Amino acid sequence: MSAALRYLSTRGNSPDATLSEAIAAGLAPDGGLYVPDHLPKLDIAAFKSDGSLAETAATLLAPFFAGDALAAELPTICAEALTFPTPLRALPQHPKTSVLELFHGPTAAFKDVGARFLAACLRRVRGHGAVPLTILVATSGDTGAAVGAAFHRQPGVEVVILYPDGRVSPRQAHQLGCFGDNVQALRVQGRFDDCQRMVKAALNDAALQAQSPLSSANSISLGRLLPQMSYYAHAALMWRREHSEPLNLVVPTGNLGNALAAVWVRAMGLPLGKIRLACNSNATLPDFFAGHDYLPREAIATLANAMDVGAPSNFERLRWTFPHAEVLREQLQAQSVDDQTISDTIALHAREHGEVFCPHTATAMHVLDQLRASGDDAPWAVVATAHPAKFESVVEPLIGKSVDVPPALAVMLQRPAVAEPMAAEDGALREWLLEKAALAS
Ligand SMILES: *Cc1c(COP(=O)(O)O)cnc(C)c1O
Repeated sequence: MSAALRYLSTRGNSPDATLSEAIAAGLAPDGGLYVPDHLPKLDIAAFKSDGSLAETAATLLAPFFAGDALAAELPTICAEALTFPTPLRALPQHPKTSVLELFHGPTAAFKDVGARFLAACLRRVRGHGAVPLTILVATSGDTGAAVGAAFHRQPGVEVVILYPDGRVSPRQAHQLGCFGDNVQALRVQGRFDDCQRMVKAALNDAALQAQSPLSSANSISLGRLLPQMSYYAHAALMWRREHSEPLNLVVPTGNLGNALAAVWVRAMGLPLGKIRLACNSNATLPDFFAGHDYLPREAIATLANAMDVGAPSNFERLRWTFPHAEVLREQLQAQSVDDQTISDTIALHAREHGEVFCPHTATAMHVLDQLRASGDDAPWAVVATAHPAKFESVVEPLIGKSVDVPPALAVMLQRPAVAEPMAAEDGALREWLLEKAALAS
């Protein structure tokens, strides 16, 4: 067996960590993101040909866990977290067009995969009797709900969700506030990037950490990023068994966690073809891939709100993976899709094909529509990141009818919801956490 991977910070100023340490910490001490010292390579033959998603995940992630305290538990962690399917569903509109549906989990978005896996890891890393850990999560909508659901009523863990007030859909806001018990929601008077900055500031605040141990469950956490690789590996292998060409992907992208997982899977040697990022009007990544300097900026609000990110965190990991900008630009292409086009795409696909997509999935569907119109006949999967029922206020007026609500979402929407307001200032979160710690002790 190969030697254990070591985990380093993208900023290069933190001591090496084990996987368990990296998962427990969330962010590296120097403010960077944890990455493995190299990406292992895997042979397709290593995978069981009719394995479940959880089995594919256990094989794929084994080299990342080798030598770690969690290694022996990896298959159980995968089985515990990956309890719902991520089907690759063929669409009748073109013989080689499919959707990779990632929204069959408890909160109806792909974030359930990472959140549940992270929760399963943290339960084991922390053991029993430790000081309660507060998990901070900045969310543009879906992450907070997934993390809340994954940790709800888990002993020894408090979850604090920060979301930009008025910038998530009404149903998302309801989901975020509906947990209660050990899960609290703060509605921040600012943007997602403010929420993310406040979380990072708190995590980097040693004095605060001494009062109240903190971790993060954002897509910066390796415990979320790694499991997201599973569904890409699973779909790629499934496709490749029956077809001669590899599957290409269009990934709706915001903070770049989901797409980075696909890039890593391909870099490990699994059969994936091209990867295209579909962004909304937040054009930081499209501009970079078009040849401009990387220029993070303030996020603007769009219909695909879970992708309203102007400074995608995982760009640091992408740059670590491909340090030379020119090489990096060969790996991916990225495109912006404006709100009008998102609306038109949702309406068009409902009208012509009877398919209803959420606004995020619609950005990716539009990118593929354009490829098809330009004569591209390769196999493509559009990654469907959320169920359209989460965004009914956008989707229903466009398609002229209501969208059925998946049962798990319906249950959450029936519970009452509460969220406290908070100013978009690092100090406000600090004070709030100190007060919470004082009350608890
Ligand atoms: C989070 C999210 C995205 C963006 O994913 P990233 O990993 O941040 O790029 C896209 N669509 C939906 C529905 C999401 O919740």
